[in-house]
Amino acid sequence: MKHQTYAGYMQQTYGFSGEGELSDFMTRHNGDLYLGGEINLTELARSHGAPLEVVYTPQITAQVQRMQGWAAQARARAEYSGAFLYAYATKANFAAEAVQTALVAGAHYETSAAADVVIAHSLWRQGILPADRLIFCNGSKEPNYLEAIRNLRLEGCERIVPVLDDLDELRLLSDTPAPLMFGVRERAAGNRDGTHPGNDRFGLSSDEIDQAAAQIAASRHQLVLYHAMIGSQVENEAHFLATLRDSVEHYCRLRRQVPTLRYFNFGGGIPTSAYSLNFGFDYERFLTKLMATIRDICAAYNVPMPDLIGEFGRYTVASHSVYLLEIGATKAGAPDQPDWYLVNGSLMVSLPDSILVHGQEFVILPLSDWNRPVKPVRLAGRRTCDSDDVYPRPDQAPLMLPDTGAGLIVAVCGIGAYQQMISGRGGAHHCLNPEPARIIVRERAGRLVVDYTPQQDQATIMRLLGYQPQHMATPLRFSPTAERPQLPRLRERPRLMRAR
Ligand SMILES: *Cc1c(COP(=O)(O)O)cnc(C)c1O
Repeated sequence: MKHQTYAGYMQQTYGFSGEGELSDFMTRHNGDLYLGGEINLTELARSHGAPLEVVYTPQITAQVQRMQGWAAQARARAEYSGAFLYAYATKANFAAEAVQTALVAGAHYETSAAADVVIAHSLWRQGILPADRLIFCNGSKEPNYLEAIRNLRLEGCERIVPVLDDLDELRLLSDTPAPLMFGVRERAAGNRDGTHPGNDRFGLSSDEIDQAAAQIAASRHQLVLYHAMIGSQVENEAHFLATLRDSVEHYCRLRRQVPTLRYFNFGGGIPTSAYSLNFGFDYERFLTKLMATIRDICAAYNVPMPDLIGEFGRYTVASHSVYLLEIGATKAGAPDQPDWYLVNGSLMVSLPDSILVHGQEFVILPLSDWNRPVKPVRLAGRRTCDSDDVYPRPDQAPLMLPDTGAGLIVAVCGIGAYQQMISGRGGAHHCLNPEPARIIVRERAGRLVVDYTPQQDQATIMRLLGYQPQHMATPLRFSPTAERPQLPRLRERPRLMRAR
């Protein structure tokens, strides 16, 4: 036990033999770590150094297609006559490569803000957001959000569905001179069991829903959708189903009054496998049970089964990108405390949810040295002198990593959802920590295409903050390996991709 290797620890803790699938998006072959079964992260670290962001959009396609496959199975098993619609909740990652990949995979679009509708509008104009896709607009809507919805509708997009968060929104949209399809969001679903207090502010009470239904019935518009979101990363299947049950009953009661109602939308909450190697949510079983529940309740109320919609944020994008960070130095921990591994980046910038979401975990895997002894450590951002720049957090168990120390490169998984949106892309960050170089691998016409963006430079950061970089003394070099733009070399490297 004393000299257990990292490989031995992985075997003992996760039953992982050292080769093959670590999770549904991380694999290991011949000692190298792969993202999405294709991208050799060990090789990328060798050729490009760290820190490095690696984005692999075919993983998004795989996520959408898997869910559609499970839903098809579930529909057959549950003899569910409604359709299943997959929507991408773009707030999880607004990057063009993420949104466009989800759309190509067939996703509908869920917006959370005015600016989001403006993006959807431009994608719709270009045909990238095809005319047959629905656009669900959630959240509390400021005047510019309502204006953006109205503009898109008046330009001819009939499939936009504002989901009412407040009766004022209905009042302000009612005079739109074209028929609109409306949704109502159920307020009670957000915090029915008291465990999701932040969700309690969204949506309408039962009374307000009745009022909205009556007002819409008396207008040129239609009420088509019932929205009931219970939370995010909901891994407890029984809780998920039990909480939605009441909402399905509300749907059915409303459906008896409102014949145009045809969509039941459970919002987000479908968990991602990206945060834990012990993840065990059975998506197909969940959908089968949910569809069977809806089928039975609809039968009891004698209403047709609705088309079922999910708005998948984390699930769609959490697993498609990783950060590679290098341990630049180590420092002994306080007595009886694990040692510090100081990484060439910032944890609070890379993983803001580690600070924002209590108990949030990320999977962090070493790219090499699996045969070295394992030891408990904590990571700290060497490029910040902020005492909060640590992971795991003080109240969490330490991380187990090889005892290599300086030079070890780790893959931080599951960062594709929310992390970069919260920290921002392209800004000046905490302690002037530059954004790492980014490699985006996309699939085009059956081939993988690679784009490389070099690490953010000092002049850019200075300019963003109002300095005049032309007066800078010496250009700073943060990470010699990561500064060499090696895109041409990468293109020539067949070793990057594993043969299928
Ligand atoms: C954030 C959000 C989602 C996505 O939630 P995930 O848990 O990331 O899937 C879906 N719908 C609405 C209305 C949201 O606010």
